[in-house]
Amino acid sequence: MKMSRALIPTLREDPKDAEVISHKLLVRAGFIRKVAAGIYTMLPLGLRTLGKLMALVREEIERAGAVEIQMPLVQPKELWTSSGRWEFYGKELLRFKDRKDQEFCLAPTHEEVVTELVKNEVRSYRQLPLILYQIHTKFRDEIRPRFGLMRAREFLMKDAYSFDLSEACARQSYQTMYSAYERIFRRIGLKFEAVEADTGAIGGSLSHEFQVLAPTGEDKIARCNHCKKAWNAELAPVAKPAFVMPESPLRKEKVKTGDAATIEEVAVVLGLHPEQILKSLLIQTERGPYLAVVRGDRILSLPKFKRSVGVVEAELAQDLTGLPEGQIGPIGQAWPVVADYSVAGIQNGVAGANEPGYHWVNVSYPLDFEAQTLADLTLAQEGDCCGVCEGPLSLSRGIEVGQVFYLGTKYSKPMEAVFLDADGNKKPTVMGCYGIGIGRTIAATVEQCHDDQGILWPVSLAPFAVHLVLLDTRQSELALLADSLYSALMAQGVDVLYDDREERPGVKFHDADLIGLPLRLTIGKKYKEKGLVEIKARDASFTEDVPPEDAGKRIHAFLSQQGMANG
Ligand code: ATP
Ligand code: MG
Repeated sequence: MKMSRALIPTLREDPKDAEVISHKLLVRAGFIRKVAAGIYTMLPLGLRTLGKLMALVREEIERAGAVEIQMPLVQPKELWTSSGRWEFYGKELLRFKDRKDQEFCLAPTHEEVVTELVKNEVRSYRQLPLILYQIHTKFRDEIRPRFGLMRAREFLMKDAYSFDLSEACARQSYQTMYSAYERIFRRIGLKFEAVEADTGAIGGSLSHEFQVLAPTGEDKIARCNHCKKAWNAELAPVAKPAFVMPESPLRKEKVKTGDAATIEEVAVVLGLHPEQILKSLLIQTERGPYLAVVRGDRILSLPKFKRSVGVVEAELAQDLTGLPEGQIGPIGQAWPVVADYSVAGIQNGVAGANEPGYHWVNVSYPLDFEAQTLADLTLAQEGDCCGVCEGPLSLSRGIEVGQVFYLGTKYSKPMEAVFLDADGNKKPTVMGCYGIGIGRTIAATVEQCHDDQGILWPVSLAPFAVHLVLLDTRQSELALLADSLYSALMAQGVDVLYDDREERPGVKFHDADLIGLPLRLTIGKKYKEKGLVEIKARDASFTEDVPPEDAGKRIHAFLSQQGMANG
């Protein structure tokens, strides 16, 4: 592609709304442009990278036995009612009416449509197993779209759905897709970790997230240095802490704390540490409200709460008491109390008094209140020990680029997607579903692969392999050579972006670094002086001056070596 004919609008300044490096660089290097919050146009370079990723994903997913279909973005309400998710999904599901007043939604995921399809088309065990996939648009009306392609509202997802005869076969399909995901992220060249995860709105009983390691990641992941297991921190089992109880419990007392509502404010007013203060949170569930109590220095994990209590819906209850959150407490109120293990070590601590402006001090467990359930309820944090083997947990941040779910019969049962087994009995198919965020994977790659000057694309996703830079378009000898190298490389199957613009060398080098193609091939002074052209790797791993006729050979050698490095 010739830059003089392409739309590659590079920018010197970071866009104002960009917080993370991938968002800044993808805009500045001319890959994407924003249309509305969380909604983007892919420019030529962005679309090329999307194409590279989609081709790689297709290859691996099809190697795993999946076949491609395409399902609609616009879906009727009835389908979502049949699975029970029309009400359950919340505001991320964008619902609307057509001119006949019929209700529809924009699909945030496709379990309903695909299950209905299989229900209608698959009758016999002979047609199973079946893995269907697509790479298509999703719409989720995210509360805070941000970070560019990372948390968009309209985005591309590769989603696959497996249908099997039995649980054992379905687990096999899950494992096959899990391995395909490992191959995909390894071939891109990413540093990632597969972690055990919550199933969220998709549901099911077993799930793994593929997390790309990056300090800007929104997820926390915990890894045990001893048993080597890894989890999303909201699910990582934390070992019961051992308590030292140096003091003897004092008689509890109600004290005035005024407007102090947060843990930090109460800690300041009473001159205490947050870990001496109980954090009490009212959680609304399908079985009514619960009071979840954790130590003030810890964060409640809703997925752990759900598992401990055995509920599927749980969110912070708003305005049930009329009190500010920090003034609620477990003493003398009616809701069932579920407390984190660490609460059992509280002695002479502090709790909200369920009365505006007051807290209890000298609160001890179990003297002053008792929990119906004591459980592991908090996000794992640095210093915690592994709940499986007691080894030390280490925490890092990740970007969730993919997730696999074992669904069982969560959709096939209510939607009656059944088949006839070999004995003529009707059975629901056993399902799994598997997603990869295409745009998010591109953003995550940039988060891991960049320097101060711009992006460093791995060969796997680079929109072009080579940036051919003609430094002076006015010198016809150089221009002729550049033109002929451009044609020759393309004839050899190398993707070339040709900077044939009438720009200063400084501008061209700057843009080449910003766009970040793996190799730069520069035609300039050295050709006139010594008959040589320069090949330079964007990651500075080598620079070589070669006669033009050797350029193709050297470039091929570099690209195949990189390709092999990522398997
Ligand atoms: P998150 O927890 O980040 O909101 P999710 O767990 O709801 O994501 P899934 O339903 O597992 O997402 O979707 C599969 C994949 O789709 C995710 O792993 C992610 O890569 C991608 N994805 C999800 N939401 C978005 C979004 N708003 N923007 C871009 N990609 C997304
Ligand atoms: Mg997910």
